[in-house]
Amino acid sequence: MSESFLLPEPLAAYYARVAVREPPLLARLRHETAQMPGAQMQIAAEEGQFIDLLLRLIGARRCVEVGVFTGYSSLVTALALPAGGQLLACDINPDTTAIARRYWAEAGVADRVRLVLAPAQQTLDAELAGGAAGSYDFAFIDADKTGYVQYYERCLQLLRPGGLIAVDNTLWSGSVADPADRSADTAAIRAFNEHVAADRRVDFCLVPIADGVTLARKH
Ligand code: SAM
Ligand code: CA
Repeated sequence: MSESFLLPEPLAAYYARVAVREPPLLARLRHETAQMPGAQMQIAAEEGQFIDLLLRLIGARRCVEVGVFTGYSSLVTALALPAGGQLLACDINPDTTAIARRYWAEAGVADRVRLVLAPAQQTLDAELAGGAAGSYDFAFIDADKTGYVQYYERCLQLLRPGGLIAVDNTLWSGSVADPADRSADTAAIRAFNEHVAADRRVDFCLVPIADGVTLARKH
């Protein structure tokens, strides 16, 4: 488990010992990524476990991810899909996603992942233009924070009724509640949190796990 601003010690250590079950391949990817710049962008192990559980609960087959980096959340997703399931993975970085591709191949799930290297808004718009609205079960949003509302709006169109969106970093290490923090990313996450709270098209919950994960279920 990564360092937690939500769980004080010794509870964090207890949680890590008793409640986190990370498969060996995911643990290896976490350790490889830990040597790289931007390592803190990778989702936490308990968050991967949470996403895995959600995917299995809703029987997800068609998923989209916005923000792949070295592939931790995409590998979690691809491994939770049944045979024939598909993940559309959106990112702009060919170097970090080369690591993701290596792990998808090693896990035997490369055929379930379609990586598109382009700005995610463009990829999501192309999906919608291609007639994919209403056909996805699950979306995970974890890219540039100033794009969150736009990604959410597009993913909501892509989801079927009953489909689920998970949005990462919605507590932003607590900065959302710090009035002195006026950075563009913090402002964008606050704006996103208010957007989803006011959105009557979904049921939602901001779950205080890892750095905050907002779940929104489309009516
Ligand atoms: N979910 C990943 C994981 O589990 O390791 C972490 C994703 S990281 C926080 C954010 C990623 O978003 C980076 O890999 C970055 O290249 C990508 N990104 C940034 N701007 C983007 C954009 N406009 N379109 C698509 N991806 C973008
Ligand atoms: Ca994140």
